[in-house]
Amino acid sequence: MSGLSVKLKTPHTGEYDQPTGLFINNEFVKGVDGKTFEVINPTDESVITSVHEATEKDVDIAVSAARKAFEGNWRKETPENRGKLLVNLANLFEKNVDLLAAVESLDNGKAITMAKGDVGACVGCLRYYGGWADKIEGKVVDTGPDTFNYIRKEPIGVCGQIIPWNFPLLMWAWKIGPAVAAGNCVVLKTAEQTPLSALVACNLIKEAGFPPGVINVISGFGKIAGAALSSHMDVDKVAFTGSTVVGRQIMKAAAGSNLKKVTLELGGKSPNIVFADADIDNAISWVNFGIYFNHGQCCCAGSRVYVQEEIYDKFIQRFKERAAQNAVGDPFHEKTFQGPQVSQLQFDRIMSYIEEGKKAGATIETGGNRIGDKGYFIEPTIFSNVTEDMKIVQEEIFGPVCSISKFKNKEDAIKVGNSTTYGLAAAVHTSNLNTAIEVANSLRAGTVWVNTYNTLHWQLPFGGFKESGIGRELGEAALDNYTQTKTVSIRLGDALFG
Ligand code: ADP
Repeated sequence: MSGLSVKLKTPHTGEYDQPTGLFINNEFVKGVDGKTFEVINPTDESVITSVHEATEKDVDIAVSAARKAFEGNWRKETPENRGKLLVNLANLFEKNVDLLAAVESLDNGKAITMAKGDVGACVGCLRYYGGWADKIEGKVVDTGPDTFNYIRKEPIGVCGQIIPWNFPLLMWAWKIGPAVAAGNCVVLKTAEQTPLSALVACNLIKEAGFPPGVINVISGFGKIAGAALSSHMDVDKVAFTGSTVVGRQIMKAAAGSNLKKVTLELGGKSPNIVFADADIDNAISWVNFGIYFNHGQCCCAGSRVYVQEEIYDKFIQRFKERAAQNAVGDPFHEKTFQGPQVSQLQFDRIMSYIEEGKKAGATIETGGNRIGDKGYFIEPTIFSNVTEDMKIVQEEIFGPVCSISKFKNKEDAIKVGNSTTYGLAAAVHTSNLNTAIEVANSLRAGTVWVNTYNTLHWQLPFGGFKESGIGRELGEAALDNYTQTKTVSIRLGDALFG
């Protein structure tokens, strides 16, 4: 290990320089307390390396750097230049796709083809928000001849951003893109399970030309650095993606400190509803992709499958054959679809849900076991004979496990579709346009897919109804999270008041 980087290797890139420091003011630095923590390879459970850990003191330093950058030149930066810098960053992501994707697969365990897809989506997202930077416009409002009113959209200031481990780079881009486009400075905390790819991406921030302090990225634990960020008195806004349990803590921390603005993208238990008139081959592919993409570690995973009774038997037979064919294994093999779960903790949680389902009387149609004895691999699993009150039907498992059951008609489908406390996403498969629209409009979810699943796009808002969150990411809607509205009212003429 030399200084604040270490030589690591991936099967796809050979040796590369992995930064290990905290990225503050465009430099990699050690934490004040000199602490480090280990990063585990989920494929073989070995230690990849150690990275520097941020504690409360480092959060203070990073927030001061962001504040100084914001109050200094960044808030006066032209929108055109903000956009140009984001587009530079997008171009650098594109140029470094192989390295970024390989580091993602190494640290997170996701299949390399999927990791490349994630980096492609980062490019799209950063470029898209680069395009927005000079299109954030206000309004003139006429209240009568004596007054001239204009309404400005201003940046919020210093934004704390806390991201999860399931899409480490993509969440980085989703958070940084709109915040910086709107003129904010950020301190982003990565998840303790997956700090590596974000640190490689930090090298590109400097290369893109961002001034020091505009984007700061720290590695550290939720209860220490995450809690310090969400309760910090000089952070104007906190944006969080993760579990609903932690989302509640973030909101409490904001309420108990300076009432910073809060956006939350939380858990889900999304229904995937298949009508008898659907194209069955397509529906099976999308249901399979809906739950097993990213090893089931998606907040919008289609984990509750409902099939109309006429086709249920045929559907389940073919779906379980399909699921059993998913290639599970080494994330660096080009043909792998599903790699290991991210950590021992997640692996144990998922296996305990599988035990819970068995105990509650559900039937395992396929899967249910660990694969191998090294690495956190779990078979794609389907539970049938479930009832709506079972934990495996109500709670987010965040793994390759779904439940499947029958429904009779449209009303029934809508009722079960809406039967959890979550409302992040849903899907309906049908060849009848009226059914599609009626069901889509009746499901209480932030995104409803029709005859597809997981097809997110940076131009389309994404976020939760009910306990799945507050606010929307992506699309024009995400800019609302990072701007505040100012009204300026100017009295015209020289008539005296009263
Ligand atoms: P998961 O349970 O899937 O690991 P979490 O919601 O616990 O998801 O974690 C998502 C992110 O939230 C991570 O960056 C984690 O460090 C952070 N985090 C966890 N607990 C807290 C907390 N109390 N305050 C702030 N951030 C937290």
